Amino acid sequence: VTALAPTAVYLDRIARARVAMDQAGVDALLVSVGSDLPYLTGYEAMPLERLTMLVVPRDGEATMVIPRLEAPRVAPQPGVFELRRWDEIADPVAIVAELVEAGCRPSKVAVGDTMWARFLVALLEHWPSDGTHYVRSAEVMNPLRIRKDQAEIDALVAAGAAADRVAAQLQAGEIELVGRTEAAVSADIGARLLAEGHDIVNFAIVAAGPNAASPHHHASSRVISAGELVLCDFGGTMAGYCSDITRCVSLGPPPAEVAEAYAVLHEAQAAGVAAAVVGAACEDVDRASRRVIDEAGYGEWFIHRTGHGIGMEAHEDPYMVEGNTLPIATGHAFSVEPGIYLDGRWGMRLEDCVVATDDGPLPLNRADHSLVVLDV
Ligand code: ZN
Ligand code: ZN
Ligand code: ZN
Repeated sequence: VTALAPTAVYLDRIARARVAMDQAGVDALLVSVGSDLPYLTGYEAMPLERLTMLVVPRDGEATMVIPRLEAPRVAPQPGVFELRRWDEIADPVAIVAELVEAGCRPSKVAVGDTMWARFLVALLEHWPSDGTHYVRSAEVMNPLRIRKDQAEIDALVAAGAAADRVAAQLQAGEIELVGRTEAAVSADIGARLLAEGHDIVNFAIVAAGPNAASPHHHASSRVISAGELVLCDFGGTMAGYCSDITRCVSLGPPPAEVAEAYAVLHEAQAAGVAAAVVGAACEDVDRASRRVIDEAGYGEWFIHRTGHGIGMEAHEDPYMVEGNTLPIATGHAFSVEPGIYLDGRWGMRLEDCVVATDDGPLPLNRADHSLVVLDV
């Protein structure tokens, strides 16, 4: 569910996409299921087998090719795109090809990452790859999407605040944990994300005791017990933009080794946020968090990158990872989420999202960063 921006916003985005196409020598931009489409038009395609595709030729009108039965879902954006409805028995890929060709075969087309493979295969039949070069739409779209404008930042702030309210409920002991399954708690957190204003729940990882050593653990039928550390990592989409937060709570006083490791994690996460300044490289954020964990001797148990970009998608560019030398710029939004995972024993992660601004990192999450100990 995407909140519609004023038409002028989409006109501007398409214009900037065309400039990027020009620079990249892309003759046609083809976007289907995924976030590029609502970013450019305000319309989110149904993720089904019928083709919806925005065709943006380098010069000439943009056209949204859409199944006739789904056309009523589209809010018209005058000047942004024309609608081309296709009937059940038509070949929509032939329509796309005809719109792009207008005389000659394209030498370079950019296709969205999450277009169904079946449509790419059909496009390859029209324009075999010996004559047409295929690139990812990211080449054109990422430079636009990676820098959030003020309306997007406002949406991320609102989504983050809604997730924070659920984190506060967790930390206040309002979400019953002991004696419930991880799956039941996960469903509870999901319901609370919706109650706080999200339109969609994207994930609600609940991992207790040894299960938390698996960073993307699937909430299971295992019953949570007193004495365990419980990791909750959850987020949803609100008015088109995502939230993502991780907090851990201890069910009763934690063992000394857990408390010590958490103090390291807390410091590592703060160091990552402090490094997230305009002009630093993305990998500097990873290095700042990792250094703290390495120096405390937990390095081999921090088994993932420090962060990912966030926006219309829960994970998108830029990634806070060794090797990413991209300089952080105003409007970059991303997570800082170091973790320590001891196989078969326990796991912990602390995650906030931030937006880089000229005045330093703007936190999207402000829920208590300490290891909250709940009475059991
Ligand atoms: Zn994750
Ligand atoms: Zn997360
Ligand atoms: Zn995350």
